[in-house]
Amino acid sequence: MPKSSAQQRALIVGAGIAGLASAWWLERAGWDVLVVERAPSFRAGGYMIDFFGPGHEVARRMGLLPALERRRAPISSVTSVDSRGRKRSEISTAAYEAVADGVISLLRGDLAEVIRDDLRSPIRYGATVSAVDDGRVTFADGSVGEFDLVVGADGAHSKVRELVFGPDAEFVRYLGHHTAAFSFRDVELSARIGYRYQMLTVPHRMIGCYAVRDGSMAALMLYRSESPELPANPAAALRARFGDLGWVAPELLSVVPDDVYYDEVSQVDVPVWHRGKVVLVGDAGGAVSLFAGHGASLAMTGAHVLAEELAAGFDGAFDRYQARVKPVVEHTQEFGRRFIGWMAPASRWRISVRDMAFRLSGLPVVRNLIRGSVTPDVDGVLTPSAPAGTAS
Ligand SMILES: Cc1cc2nc3c(=O)[nH]c(=O)nc-3n(C[C@H](O)[C@H](O)[C@H](O)COP(=O)(O)OP(=O)(O)OC[C@H]3O[C@@H](n4cnc5c(N)ncnc54)[C@H](O)[C@@H]3O)c2cc1C
Repeated sequence: MPKSSAQQRALIVGAGIAGLASAWWLERAGWDVLVVERAPSFRAGGYMIDFFGPGHEVARRMGLLPALERRRAPISSVTSVDSRGRKRSEISTAAYEAVADGVISLLRGDLAEVIRDDLRSPIRYGATVSAVDDGRVTFADGSVGEFDLVVGADGAHSKVRELVFGPDAEFVRYLGHHTAAFSFRDVELSARIGYRYQMLTVPHRMIGCYAVRDGSMAALMLYRSESPELPANPAAALRARFGDLGWVAPELLSVVPDDVYYDEVSQVDVPVWHRGKVVLVGDAGGAVSLFAGHGASLAMTGAHVLAEELAAGFDGAFDRYQARVKPVVEHTQEFGRRFIGWMAPASRWRISVRDMAFRLSGLPVVRNLIRGSVTPDVDGVLTPSAPAGTAS
């Protein structure tokens, strides 16, 4: 084991939120960092996330909050509509902010870009790993490298996890739903929908969209499916599932791109996040799912805590990192499973109850109830103040 993190080589697999944040913290701690990313180039945009909790504090410590604020989406409300587009209920952003302290709504790609723009380490796109033997890594192009640390930050379907820890079946918990997200440009529809997250919910299905910027739109779909198996043609599957719905569903379904983000909704639970020189960060070791909604925040948190513990000494660092972060991840996962009924209600009655809660969200007593429902307790995972030398 290395005596200190200085001059050591780290390989980070995956240039998502966890990978980029890990690179950011490790390079500042003196590591020589290489990031490899399977995608051929940086993927901008994506879906909207609500970014708050400990990840928000980590972003503050990184000095990134001003840049994130500039990317903040001006969403004014979450609005539930009926099949003719008429408002059923609404929760204003102000009411939401009251239950989710400091929340910034922004595109996942914008968060990633802000971190990437503040990195010095090289990112090799179109690259991945084909074998990991402790610190000895074989890349897909056949080249081999030796590293003191290998960070698996390659998301819920992690290749590093499969190579080092075992098959997906051992670690992935399917939550009974499929989801899809994509963005597209449509100036007229964008103006019609506006900066409101509008959604149509029928039992077991939800379709939503909102204006992003410059005449662009983002769409999100969620539906119940007994099987986690993904369809060969996601666009066709979405048309089959949502084709009978009114409102703007036909317009959204007519522009589903070939590279639509489409996935099963699942959580990842790996009992031990490290083996030898390999450690998992973010969704790779502990995806909480979109139902929990804190994945990006926890990915940032994990990256920061890992670097902090490595700086305190390599020996035992992975155990200390896991001991701090995993309880929070498990707590959030449990919360996410309870939240399924809010995002994808199973009956008309449950949809009405949710809409009623939206309508009453201005009342303090209801806000407190919603706060308990949308914000898992994540206190205590971070050290009280920023370590010396970090931005504040
Ligand atoms: C629809 C939706 C809504 C969400 N809403 C929220 C929200 O409101 N708030 C929130 O905090 N979180 C939210 N999340 C969760 C959040 O997006 C994820 O938890 C977070 O992005 C996890 O970061 P990550 O870096 O671990 O994984 P990812 O962001 O998935 O990044 C993994 C990266 O690894 C790359 N990769 C994959 N395989 C390989 C490989 N073999 N080799 C090299 N690279 C590879 C991928 O291309 C990707 O760039 C949402 C997720 C979804 C799907």
